[in-house]
Amino acid sequence: MEKKFDSLTIFEFQQRFPDEDACLAYLARKKWGDGYVCPRCGNTKFCKGEKEHNRQCTRCRYISSPTSGTLFHKVKFPLLKAFYVVYYVSTNKKGISSTELSRKLGLRQKTCWLFKQKVMVAMRSSGRSLLQGKVEVDETVVGGQEEGVVGRKNGKKQLVVFAIERKGKGVSRLYGKVVKNASARELGGFMKQTIDKAAEVKTDAWMGYAPLKAHFGGLKQVPSGRKGESFPDLHRVIMGFKGWLRGMHHHAELLQSYIDEYTYRFNRSFMGKGLFDNLLDRMLTIQPHSYKMLIT
Ligand SMILES: [Zn+2]
Repeated sequence: MEKKFDSLTIFEFQQRFPDEDACLAYLARKKWGDGYVCPRCGNTKFCKGEKEHNRQCTRCRYISSPTSGTLFHKVKFPLLKAFYVVYYVSTNKKGISSTELSRKLGLRQKTCWLFKQKVMVAMRSSGRSLLQGKVEVDETVVGGQEEGVVGRKNGKKQLVVFAIERKGKGVSRLYGKVVKNASARELGGFMKQTIDKAAEVKTDAWMGYAPLKAHFGGLKQVPSGRKGESFPDLHRVIMGFKGWLRGMHHHAELLQSYIDEYTYRFNRSFMGKGLFDNLLDRMLTIQPHSYKMLIT
């Protein structure tokens, strides 16, 4: 039986967000609920601002908008279109290019590209939920002349370290990071950020992992065998990522954000329809990012 593709349909999305006002009302409700605290003076009384959904402090007259303090702050096009971008990004498992967004929404490609980078910021791991239990780690080369990919210009070769958390017979979670090299320092930096100290970590025999036994008491090194025979699930996941990446127009310098996008969706595949809300809500909890912050 074919598995039902369980994500929010465009009809459901349009019902919830028919127009600009519905988007603003949603942000206001999420931001303030029934309460309000002036960000400047702490007063809890407000009146309506000149613009619908804005709130003005009754004491110092400071005006707060529903978008301030979120990734929707100072978006130069209709908020409704910004919501559509979040919708398309969250529901397109294969990723969606800024060119495609531009065509769908009637916005300039560069505008879409820039806003999509903000959505990708919201897809970054918060680093708060570490991989636990049985964890496997390995590095792989992405780009350049990849094995089995002939005649493709994938840009420069980059080294990526991936870690999976196993649960039952499957893989429950995945993280990845672009690293400068396979030294203990680079690998360890990623592993300490993403893996619980008490996890049973399995790596191949590479010497870069050996010093990390001091931090991860349960770290075991095993020979990886030909084509990673000792790590079939991890290699399947890595292949999945590489296939996904090949399927879209990508830029080598943004590899980390593609990894973040892929792992974000991978780790939340159980959410189904809730994925859109999850991403939208993350957009609200992240401080505004300037252009400079996005491209560095
Ligand atoms: Zn005030």
